[in-house]
Amino acid sequence: MARWDAILSLPVQNPPTPELSAADITWSKVEGWKDTIDRLALIPYSRVTDFVRGESNNKQCPTRFHIEARRKRSTQSSCKPKVDGILEYILYWCSFGPDDHRKGGVVRPSRAYAVHRKTPAGRPNTKRGCTCHFIVKRLIAEPSVALIIYNKDKHLDKNGLPCHGSMDQKAAGTRAMFAPYISDEFKLQVMSLLHVGVPVETIMQRHAEAVERQGGPSNRDDLLTHRCVRRMERKIRRTTYELDMDDAVSVSMWVENNQDQVFFYDDYSKSDTFVLGIQTDWQLQQMIRFGNRSLLASDSKFGSNKLKYPVYSLLVFDSDKNAIPVAWIITPKFANSEIHRWLGTLYHRVRTKDPTWQLGGFIIDDPLADLFTIKELLQCSVLISFWRLRRAWHKNLLMKCSHMETCAMMSKQLGEALHSICDGTGDMGLFESFLERFVGCAEFSDYFKATWFPRLGVWIKALRSLPSATSEVTSAIESYHHLLKIRLLNEKDQFVYHRADWLVQKLSTKVHSYYWLDEYSEKEIFSRYWKDEWKRGLSAWRDGLQIPAADIKIEPNCAKVVCQKNREMVHVVLNPGSEFALCDCTWSKAGYICKHAAGSTKVYQERGLVGPSMSMICYNRALMSMLDCVPSDCLVRDHAVGLAVRVREELVSLLCSKEKDKEIGIRECQQSSGKTENEICLSKDDDTEASEKRAEKNGAVEKSGDGLNIEVQADVMDIDAQCNNEKSDHYCDATAVNSAEKSDDKSNDKKDIREDEIIEIQPMEVDISEKVICVSEKVLQDVDIANGSVENSDKAE
Ligand SMILES: [Zn+2]
Ligand SMILES: [Zn+2]
Repeated sequence: MARWDAILSLPVQNPPTPELSAADITWSKVEGWKDTIDRLALIPYSRVTDFVRGESNNKQCPTRFHIEARRKRSTQSSCKPKVDGILEYILYWCSFGPDDHRKGGVVRPSRAYAVHRKTPAGRPNTKRGCTCHFIVKRLIAEPSVALIIYNKDKHLDKNGLPCHGSMDQKAAGTRAMFAPYISDEFKLQVMSLLHVGVPVETIMQRHAEAVERQGGPSNRDDLLTHRCVRRMERKIRRTTYELDMDDAVSVSMWVENNQDQVFFYDDYSKSDTFVLGIQTDWQLQQMIRFGNRSLLASDSKFGSNKLKYPVYSLLVFDSDKNAIPVAWIITPKFANSEIHRWLGTLYHRVRTKDPTWQLGGFIIDDPLADLFTIKELLQCSVLISFWRLRRAWHKNLLMKCSHMETCAMMSKQLGEALHSICDGTGDMGLFESFLERFVGCAEFSDYFKATWFPRLGVWIKALRSLPSATSEVTSAIESYHHLLKIRLLNEKDQFVYHRADWLVQKLSTKVHSYYWLDEYSEKEIFSRYWKDEWKRGLSAWRDGLQIPAADIKIEPNCAKVVCQKNREMVHVVLNPGSEFALCDCTWSKAGYICKHAAGSTKVYQERGLVGPSMSMICYNRALMSMLDCVPSDCLVRDHAVGLAVRVREELVSLLCSKEKDKEIGIRECQQSSGKTENEICLSKDDDTEASEKRAEKNGAVEKSGDGLNIEVQADVMDIDAQCNNEKSDHYCDATAVNSAEKSDDKSNDKKDIREDEIIEIQPMEVDISEKVICVSEKVLQDVDIANGSVENSDKAE
């Protein structure tokens, strides 16, 4: 038993890389049978596929590992609990072996038939006698762990000579230089193109052109064959969603066949509710890449009215702030209490791949969501996006009230009501007075009373207690929702919507392929993708930021935006600068935030013509409320200081990491508006009067008047100063001096914290030049943490 003691005392190695190869692992030598020495290691069982992939992508000998033998203990069989009991045994062999089809090579008698074939069906003749192989054992004692025994880790034949790859002289110029068959990534690319309807011929033609441009094949993917693509196309064509007449049976068969795409499955036999969680490998990669120290958002009820089961999507945001679905959860009545069943499994799945992965925040769109479970499982704060509510109000207003000006007034009042609720001053009474004021618009009033009065209570509670997501994130979620509708619900035969197997099949193939293509950099060479209805361009918000400021004219009650496609046309945006802006374009009429509204919001914020957005109110509120936590006990106080400094450091590092994006964004917006930074600052002076009025109106933050707000300003300045200290030393000086001065008249408690912060700022020569004055005005622009964009806050003097 010494062998097993030695094995079970080994550490379980889990390097945080997407793939892991033998080189990433420390191997131990343990005595095996008949005096042999085994070279082995333990890794998490869930990472075996990553290991196989890592070993396949060997630089010198790219290959593929196939399962040569497999034994699995049936779950029913009872067995004596033994330390070396094995649940599963898998033998992986390099696909250039174990047989040798080269001249004079040895082929096992059972496989000899393959040599006599003229055209080996389906598989190119690749066997070259490679002896490289490893064994994976899943132990009964530790089912979550895989024991890997890797004694033959070199790609050599039985004579000890290299038999494929760059070390094998005889392989030069043949396929044996590369791995047999194409890589998984490339296979996904070809499959995605086929799923969205790109013909085989086009794929081959584009591929041949690309290989020719680079001067001939240089890896396995370059050797893509016509036959291989045709085979994939045939497979797609012949696949049917209806695996059984019975929908439930059909779904369970799909799950059985597609284990690698399912992260959670409970059918009715296991519990009262059916839950199926889909996440492909690509989706998992996106979740790790874009979700880490960032946001995860939910679109919780897609297709509630149309589909048999609604779809719950989890989204991350790419560098262009477009939403990518990283998991789909299908379940009937989406009870909010059910989220714990799958969310923990998903979180665990991500953390097994990358133990350092951490979420910055989770955005819900349903005020009834189970906050406690989400916070508990994901270890992050929860934000709320009120896009469903905003869109429903917006759409119904335009539908039920024909007079545009009245619509705008109603929308404005609804927006103001939400703002008041957000900053803690408003309540249900605001909606009652709204109905009294607009009693004339009976159709909308009736709708609002019937549909929203019963739900407003939970919304008010949620908006008061949770920070709300920014308009840009809202716009990205809206765009995702809209695209999913186009991509999923486009069947001629609507009967299929009543089948879950159709939904599962379509999401995991066609719909998944569309989203994969969205992120594929070379999609533009396939004209099929650009077919208007399914392509994803920039989100409406991003589109809006591209509109030059010169094309946005500010008028007393509206903004007029020159149409970018047809410059003869002008769109009128009412309530410009607010989340509740209305526009006369078709996108706005469908209830969405349109680019014209987004563009005018940018201009209004830059000129200080509007108050802070809801998300800025929440940000300010969070910072302010931290000042109320004055620790009295000395131990608690030391702990609190440590905590506060850490939060601040994290905030600084977050803002700095977004700084680059922000700079690019500012540069783009300056280029488009034709203004330099100084000019923007100057134009702010012109708007001082407007800012003052605004400051009066939005007194929530300023109201305190007890010096607290000055401190918050100094905080914000500090954060910005550190972000900018690489490019602007003056800036740092000025704020350091400012904060030092301001801290003088503060109580000792607060002074302690201040001094800590001052120490962190590098002392530098004081040189307050014009630039400093200009930059310190820029300080008044706060950075919107959720989206990295710059918003003009109400802290202007
Ligand atoms: Zn090999
Ligand atoms: Zn519009």
